[in-house]
Amino acid sequence: MTEKQRYERPVINRIQSGLPDKFGAKFRMESRTEIEGHPVKELIADYGSPLFVLSENTIRSTYRELLQAFSTRYPKVQMAWSYKTNYLDAVCRIYHQEGAWAEVVSWFEYEKAINNGVDPRNILFNGPYKSAEELRISLKNGSLVHIDHFDELYQIIHISEDLPVKAKVAIRINMDTGIYPQWERFGFNYENGEAWTAVNRIMNSPNLELVGLHTHIGTYIMSISAYATASYKLAELAVRTERKFGHKVKYIDMGGGFATRNTLKGAYLPGTDTCPSFDDYADAITGALLNSEIRPEDMPMLILETGRALVDDAGFLLGTVVANKRMASGRRGMITDIGVNHLFTSFWYEHTLLPGVPVNAGSEDTQICGPLCMNIDVIRQAVRFPLLQPGDPVVVERIGAYNMTQWLQFITYRPKIVLLAEDGGVYVIRENENLDTFKALERVPDFLQNR
Ligand SMILES: *Cc1c(COP(=O)(O)O)cnc(C)c1O
Repeated sequence: MTEKQRYERPVINRIQSGLPDKFGAKFRMESRTEIEGHPVKELIADYGSPLFVLSENTIRSTYRELLQAFSTRYPKVQMAWSYKTNYLDAVCRIYHQEGAWAEVVSWFEYEKAINNGVDPRNILFNGPYKSAEELRISLKNGSLVHIDHFDELYQIIHISEDLPVKAKVAIRINMDTGIYPQWERFGFNYENGEAWTAVNRIMNSPNLELVGLHTHIGTYIMSISAYATASYKLAELAVRTERKFGHKVKYIDMGGGFATRNTLKGAYLPGTDTCPSFDDYADAITGALLNSEIRPEDMPMLILETGRALVDDAGFLLGTVVANKRMASGRRGMITDIGVNHLFTSFWYEHTLLPGVPVNAGSEDTQICGPLCMNIDVIRQAVRFPLLQPGDPVVVERIGAYNMTQWLQFITYRPKIVLLAEDGGVYVIRENENLDTFKALERVPDFLQNR
């Protein structure tokens, strides 16, 4: 049965395709009909829409690329997977299989890491809040506790009095790296001497062992010189500690923050053009450490807690076109089932969204919205997009970081997540929510039960 041709009221639109500028033609429509050999339509038919998809192959190959960039330049490199970036057990276990430790910022994440089989001595415990009980258990387990402020330091000194082991601690340090606004909320400041004071307090506490120096200068940092500055400052502190106390820290932890190929809102050039390579970051960091006054035989282990740059490319969000409409402004509106409740990063990225079917039709300025009854539910404010039909699939690329942790259960159920494995299989690694998910948690008092 062929469908009757639809009538759409004509509108007059300014043609914007224009002349090519120095970067080439402004518009070229691609589509994405498959992911690693799995047709997008089939994935949606089998697992529902929307659907989060992760690629094991991309997770592993990106990890190896980053590790190689650093370990060819520096003698001892250790990765620690940043749990908050994506703490799906299957994802964490891939990183742990590759050799990564765990970097956690809450007790929830700590428990997840233990449950994933991570040796507690290979857990870095970051964050501004750790309860007394959490500190006691993690220190007793031999985990590496990164101290955020003096109150936490005093609490640890107190707790360490009745610990059977020496408390292994590092300090988080914030500093001026030329990136503004400077992240000053976390850790001890370098320039005002607070970090040095913290080192001295720890070195004068008999039950504490200063094992490392840590910084995490920010996120989506495109300036590699900021990393060089930060590495240099931590190396300075390590040298000073060695000079005064004869104590060598075991590691320098440079945190995360590498940019991804996603495009930030308001950026002039696409992230694919501006994102530094892993080699660029590695040059900056290892160069500063190797050129410091630390002797070759004393070189501390270099720890990296890279999150977004490791997993972003491995994630896709598949969705379906619900409807098209013409808005009062004349702009085309396209409604999809992908909402900002699940694509949290759409608040700061201009995500790459592609038709999931081949396209050759003309394109026009389109606002791409989600299914929520909320004015802010817009995935792309204005993007050149071809006309798709209701039921056609769409693919959002590079969404592996932060979406599957920061998503909200708001208005709709959260969808399934599947892993495209290297063995060719498709594995559900998180089930979708349904009414039972909520019934399991909610309690209705007796007086509100139906009678
Ligand atoms: C969030 C976080 C990371 C990971 O940051 P990315 O920007 O995703 O690389 C690493 N270390 C700490 C302490 C963090 O809070």
